[in-house]
Amino acid sequence: MTLDANWFSEPHQDMAFSLRLKARLHEEQTPFQKIEIYDTVGFGKLMVIDGCVMLTDRDNFIYHEMMSHPVLFSHPDPKNVLIIGGGDCGTLREVLKHDGVQHATQVDIDERVTRLSEKYFPQLCDSNDDPRARLLFDDGIAHVKNAEPGSIDVIIIDSTDPVGPAEGLFSTAFYKDCLRALGRDGLLVQQSESPLLHTDSIIRPMHDSLRGAGFLDVMTLHFPQASYPSGWWTASIASKDATVCFHREEAAEELAFPTEYYNAAIHRAAGATPEFLRRKLFA
Ligand code: SAM
Repeated sequence: MTLDANWFSEPHQDMAFSLRLKARLHEEQTPFQKIEIYDTVGFGKLMVIDGCVMLTDRDNFIYHEMMSHPVLFSHPDPKNVLIIGGGDCGTLREVLKHDGVQHATQVDIDERVTRLSEKYFPQLCDSNDDPRARLLFDDGIAHVKNAEPGSIDVIIIDSTDPVGPAEGLFSTAFYKDCLRALGRDGLLVQQSESPLLHTDSIIRPMHDSLRGAGFLDVMTLHFPQASYPSGWWTASIASKDATVCFHREEAAEELAFPTEYYNAAIHRAAGATPEFLRRKLFA
């Protein structure tokens, strides 16, 4: 079947994910990237940056929950959380579901992503007025470089793919700055793309760079994400000074807030490593 102009398509490595469109709602070129917003027939609203799907109404809950809850339940007492990127505010909303979090700072380079999310994805911005939330619009690389050493419990890197302004967020130099900014028991989590498509190009180099920067342990979690290339996605957790473990399993068993995807069993299952990946990452 050939797709006509009523479809959005994201071609990637000789395949494409497509969504049938109802309408184009917005398009703009910011100083950093091109942002498009569509209304689709089956997946609700869709945000695209530089031709890549960022999120849809229908499946963003999986990504945002898996970027937040596993790392927060793996830290013994996360109080101070830094989100790099994440301008749509979906990860911030999930982080603020944790009562123990006292400060959540989101640093996105592009304010327009947040302003458009407020307009087209208001449900993701529900917690932006929470007194614990701080929204900054700055380069995450510079922000982490200038952070007070030992001041952050958890860093969540919710960025675009490693091209353009996000390229440096996947570098050893950046991870060294993150390590310095993290306190005792500190954890970092970063979206690490598809195991089917990006093991050699992104996941393996990310593990090597994180360890090279001084992180003691790295663990990759798996989850489905229909609207991202291959439909299978990962987030990698790195630990400053211990093995990554499910520290607050009991609290996760008795979740004090509602989720759509995350629970303790999902957390445990997401950490299982498929054989091909085990050979590439740990052999
Ligand atoms: N869920 C998405 C994904 O994996 O495709 C990521 C969504 S979020 C919208 C990505 C954000 O990263 C964008 O808003 C972009 O502006 C931000 N970003 C890219 N490079 C950045 C940098 N160097 N510092 C801070 N934010 C950055």
